[in-house]
Amino acid sequence: MQQMFDTLKKEEFEEIVYGYDKYSGLKSIIAIHNTALGPAFGGTRMMPYSTEKEALEDVLLLAKAMTYKNAAAGINFGGGKAVIIGDPETEKTEDLLRAFGRLVEGLGGRFIAGVDIGTDENDMVILQQESNHVTALPIYYGGAGSTSGATAYGLYQGIKSAAEEVFGNKQLKDKSVAIQGVGHIGNSLAKYLVDEGAKVYVSDINEKALNKLKKETSVKTVDPEEIYDLDVDIFSPCALGGILNDNTIPKLKCKLIAGSANNQLKNPEKHCKMIEERGIVYIVDYILSAGGVINNSQQYNPHGYNKDAAYAQLKKIGENVKKVLNIARKEKITTVEAAKLLAKRRIQNAIERKAWYLREECKHIKV
Ligand code: NAD
Repeated sequence: MQQMFDTLKKEEFEEIVYGYDKYSGLKSIIAIHNTALGPAFGGTRMMPYSTEKEALEDVLLLAKAMTYKNAAAGINFGGGKAVIIGDPETEKTEDLLRAFGRLVEGLGGRFIAGVDIGTDENDMVILQQESNHVTALPIYYGGAGSTSGATAYGLYQGIKSAAEEVFGNKQLKDKSVAIQGVGHIGNSLAKYLVDEGAKVYVSDINEKALNKLKKETSVKTVDPEEIYDLDVDIFSPCALGGILNDNTIPKLKCKLIAGSANNQLKNPEKHCKMIEERGIVYIVDYILSAGGVINNSQQYNPHGYNKDAAYAQLKKIGENVKKVLNIARKEKITTVEAAKLLAKRRIQNAIERKAWYLREECKHIKV
């Protein structure tokens, strides 16, 4: 038990909540990492974790990453995440989702639940029957709809901005790009790139996903292992985490790595340095994949959700890419450290601002 509190202290977590429901069989953990900027805002991942320890480790890692992602994205939300232990294909029931909704509601707004692997916007409609603190609702329900469209568009804008820094031009016409994984994000990204005139190579372990994309646009498919060896300008990992490691980095011939996959670097500090030593610019995943949270945060726009207004906010991603690269150059640090610094500065400003107002208010109180 002491070990658990040591971890929470070291990683500066605010709250971990375990939820169990006898009737539906719900087993869930919600982790709230930091609420200095606002309520913790994060997805709900449903997976058949093999152990409770695995589920706990996942939710802690994901919640902390959300703190940095939301802070760097410039939205007024903190970081948190939820996991539900179970197979979404066979164990997701209305009762289970409602029980999870009651758990979220019990937190009184300190955590706002959204979608992640294993949950979708229809699940959020069920959650909303039990809680007011739900995002990623369909547009016809007052929400911002699916996160993938906004994530893909934001990623595309971020790549253009990074290209301007690396190649001196944000036009991707005639640039060659290798995309690993053509699911929701990779599929849309490939289409944006082909439409602009880029030469696009794609890999996926799912033949169906590859065939679907090939029917829709002109891409060249390669074997999953071949994707690392291609002589391309840009490599965009849009599948799994941990794929940039001791084995794969030496193979890369690109000048820029910019993709959406979460936690691409097996060891963030070590592997970011290794990439930079090879003369490759690495753009941190959570800076590029913030489109979904930026879009979802617009559900709280006092005038109601408006897609044009929300998508206009996605230009922040391109601005942040440049900010991170500037910080890295100025401070002589890796882009991983620079992205963290960008996020931490915003959190620190929020804490100092609150403290200043408190001090100002207290000046008038006579004790
Ligand atoms: P997805 O599940 O729809 O697509 C992932 C694709 O990667 C699948 O087609 C899968 O078959 C493929 N894949 C798996 N292993 C592979 C391998 N070894 N080589 C090649 N392809 C492989 O997921 P998505 O929604 O497109 O998200 C892509 C990445 O971006 C994920 O890491 C996700 O966590 C991250 N992300 C997504 C969003 C979002 O809004 N969808 C937001 C932030 C981050």
